[in-house]
Amino acid sequence: LLNVTLVFIAMLMCQNTLFAQDKVDQRVEEIMSKMTLDQKIGQMIQITSTSGDDVPDWVRDAIIEGRVGSILNAGTPIAIEKLQKIALKEGPNNIPLIIGRDVIHGYKTIFPIPLGQAASWNSELVERGANVAGIEAYEEGINWTFAPMIDVSRDPRWGRIAESLGEDPYLTSVLGAAMVKGFQGEQLSDEEGRIAACAKHFVGYGATENGKDYNAVSIPDYHLWNVYLPPFKAVVDAGVGTFMTAFNDINGVPASANTFLLKDVLRDDWGFEGFVVSDWESMSQMMNQGYSEDLKDVARQSANARLDMEMVSASYQKHLKELIEEGEVDVDIVNTAVRNILRSKVQLGLFDKKYRGVPKNSSILSATHKADAKAMAIESVVMLKNEKVLPLQQNQKIAVIGPLANAPAEQIGTWSLDAVVEDVITPLTSLKEVYGDNILYAEGLKNSRDMNTSSINKAVDVAKQADVVVMFVGEDAILSGEGHSRAFITLPGAQETLIEEVAATGKKIVMVVMAGRPLTFENIENKVDAILYAWHPGTMGGPALADLISGKVSPTGKLPVTFPRTVGQVPLYYAYLESGRPANPEMLGIPTGTPLDPVGLSNNYLDVSITPAYAFGYGLTYSEFLVSEPKLSSTEITSSESITLEVVVKNLGTVDAAEVVQLYIKDHVASTMRPKKELKGFEKVNLKAGEEKVVTFTIGADQLSFLDRNGKTLLESGKFTAYVGNSSDNLHEVSFTLTNLK
Ligand code: BGC
Repeated sequence: LLNVTLVFIAMLMCQNTLFAQDKVDQRVEEIMSKMTLDQKIGQMIQITSTSGDDVPDWVRDAIIEGRVGSILNAGTPIAIEKLQKIALKEGPNNIPLIIGRDVIHGYKTIFPIPLGQAASWNSELVERGANVAGIEAYEEGINWTFAPMIDVSRDPRWGRIAESLGEDPYLTSVLGAAMVKGFQGEQLSDEEGRIAACAKHFVGYGATENGKDYNAVSIPDYHLWNVYLPPFKAVVDAGVGTFMTAFNDINGVPASANTFLLKDVLRDDWGFEGFVVSDWESMSQMMNQGYSEDLKDVARQSANARLDMEMVSASYQKHLKELIEEGEVDVDIVNTAVRNILRSKVQLGLFDKKYRGVPKNSSILSATHKADAKAMAIESVVMLKNEKVLPLQQNQKIAVIGPLANAPAEQIGTWSLDAVVEDVITPLTSLKEVYGDNILYAEGLKNSRDMNTSSINKAVDVAKQADVVVMFVGEDAILSGEGHSRAFITLPGAQETLIEEVAATGKKIVMVVMAGRPLTFENIENKVDAILYAWHPGTMGGPALADLISGKVSPTGKLPVTFPRTVGQVPLYYAYLESGRPANPEMLGIPTGTPLDPVGLSNNYLDVSITPAYAFGYGLTYSEFLVSEPKLSSTEITSSESITLEVVVKNLGTVDAAEVVQLYIKDHVASTMRPKKELKGFEKVNLKAGEEKVVTFTIGADQLSFLDRNGKTLLESGKFTAYVGNSSDNLHEVSFTLTNLK
């Protein structure tokens, strides 16, 4: 009976969804039937407006004449209210605009940069972060964010690695899907506080050649399917409402005109039903890329590739109608694009929203939102080193030194367009709250890029008066993000000199790094006793760091990206394809600068170790954890079954903390080379001192299959190894065989 009831309930729910969908489609068709071709094309156009309270005349005219469907950067909530009223009252067919904005890691309450959030390995917190960002943006009239960015990023020179979720397709998939859920809920809906998410940049932007922004990429199909596409597939499965194309090409065809990506993969293969927007002028830029003759060519190529909405450039506005009349673009392509856009507007309830202007009961920067931002900031920090110095005791005299100790605008990082800098709490402020008069302070350098060493003496004097030094160094916000790549990824300015001179006092040093990318600091690593990597930690970075430094909580973050020793090793990532002449083990860990005899002709450097400075998945806590040898339920597995792998994780220390148990898998021999190992599961486990827990992973077809160069899923028999531990370079292993393939 129970089963019958459950089936009945499931059928009802399914019917309800279908019914809701039917209603949406019906509404869309009603509107479509009243629209002229010009008005339809208008829906496919996104313009950028102003930053003030007013609506410029040209924007008003465009709305009234039905020449615009979306606005990004639409100005204040007052302006947005005016815009929507014009659209709903004076625009043809009363179609609301969809208002877009880059709400990337918080709206006004700023969370850590996405790369920092990824270091939490905590999808619940990541989801909550997106939810808070979405709620705040929603309250100010924004309907659509251009996030999450799920470009797998393996080059720390690229400034946009800050916006990414790191180097790994699986971690990016899990956290990207969590962000989508945080912004949208289960699907696009008219629920209060929900906005549409946008998966970007489709696809391969993270592979930008030599880390320079807006470069071409060179991605073999095999990597496209196994590395760059999986996060996008994962967010389609999570119901993401929109996609944004990338600036780069794939196989020589710009993403904004790539029929293979936009039609074959996204629509036909994955069944995506939302709409696709170009990136900022990524369509007109195809002329510079040598792919389009002129703006008309641009419109023809992008429309035929199924790009639904053009951001900022004006090829659709100027040429789409004429192309349809000439038979160069089928009118059905436009009809489908407009349906996709209108469907999203209906689903978001934009037709029925009462536009609110400045909210009366705003939750912006509320205590709850700040508490969430603090929780995320705490879990984003990765402790890379701790030679018995952290946490600092209450009675210690602490010298706080460095350009980032009290730099609110720098600590929030890139894409903090709407941040309220006055609300940012810096580490200096928070440490003073905890340690009172025991805090001494000298900035040493004005900012991270300062080359003027004249204030270093003062910092050295302050260090001499203290028991211990905490140095806040790293990168100003402007050193990462879009269009901000670096060829050197060392600490900029005179920061190394500052550290060296402070270290010469003989005092113990805790180095806290705020940065938008992995930095290299081999020269000074041995001069400091502890390292906390804090990325750009956001509005609540100060309180989070004070809790960590004082030991109120333990660091629990793990690197979402490999840290090279030197930029010369880049790209360096853990899931590489093995060389035919693997590196000579005698050469592992050789410090930079050691004169070497070449030990055979193998996959080494002569002048630097091949190992990273810090491995993917690495991070210390104030406790110590033991992950037991793994137990497999069987060492044989068939294609239709799964097995389980079990480990016990135990907190051996005297403080409460969390450990991230990580599962990696290696497929030994396959029809194409397979990575050294690949992350296939993880669980962040909170354990009190002395506590232990069993962690169980399931291993089946999902974990063992891969895609061939045509995107076909392959499951091949043979030997596999599972690795489990607390860092990609600290793992137990156990092997098993996949047999009985049909
Ligand atoms: C960026 C996108 C961003 C868009 C809108 C572009 O330059 O590449 O990531 O969403 O601008 O601001």
